[in-house]
Amino acid sequence: MIGNWKLHGNRVENAERLAALKEAGPWQAEVAVCVPFPYIPEVALALQGSRIAWGAQDCSAHESGAYTGEVAAPMLAEFGCRYVIVGHSERRALHGETDQQVADKAKRALAHHLTPIVCVGETLAERDAGQTDEVVKRQLSAVIHTLGHCISQVVVAYEPVWAIGTGRTATPEQAQAVHARLRRQLQAATEKADLISLLYGGSVKPDNAAALFAQPDIDGGLIGGASLKAAEFAAICRAA
Ligand code: PEP
Repeated sequence: MIGNWKLHGNRVENAERLAALKEAGPWQAEVAVCVPFPYIPEVALALQGSRIAWGAQDCSAHESGAYTGEVAAPMLAEFGCRYVIVGHSERRALHGETDQQVADKAKRALAHHLTPIVCVGETLAERDAGQTDEVVKRQLSAVIHTLGHCISQVVVAYEPVWAIGTGRTATPEQAQAVHARLRRQLQAATEKADLISLLYGGSVKPDNAAALFAQPDIDGGLIGGASLKAAEFAAICRAA
């Protein structure tokens, strides 16, 4: 279960949220929070010794160099990050990230023992045009081709863009149908496909979490808005 704080928080709020989360756990599910870059050292201190891991919301595809404003995977590793989200639809849409750039970021993350959470998902226009399968297949293909057998080390998050932050969730059946396709694509690439965690993301809340996580190919969730409220995130973690 991954909480994506996006561009939210401040030091006081973060400390309160993390204290409440630690108090509410532990859960059977593996839990992590992906936080804005400047807060990583403080979050690391707060979560050290707990069963909640931490990570970032993006990393550079480059190791180092003249890339103003970027943050490198080895820097995240220095601060104990276990995960990094790559290819979130907000970055694809607002920062023009391509499938290949996302794949290169995933590769760079793995080189530094970070688990990339690779996001894929279609827009509403693509769904309405019947292109969902084609879009997620293309997005995942780039990562499979770039990582080769290391694809077994990633986490994949299916996030239909029309369900992110909109309050409109994919039905468990809609999500399961796409997850099953992603699983088949992974099975064609690696014998370890069944061990890869496939997360669903898009307006997951305490009241819809259990039905989503009951689906055979939905192994967990990538949670945005609800991860900012400790009680809601804790309830979702319990549902997993
Ligand atoms: C997300 O940010 O990845 C996300 C799924 O957001 P929300 O849960 O708010 O839809």
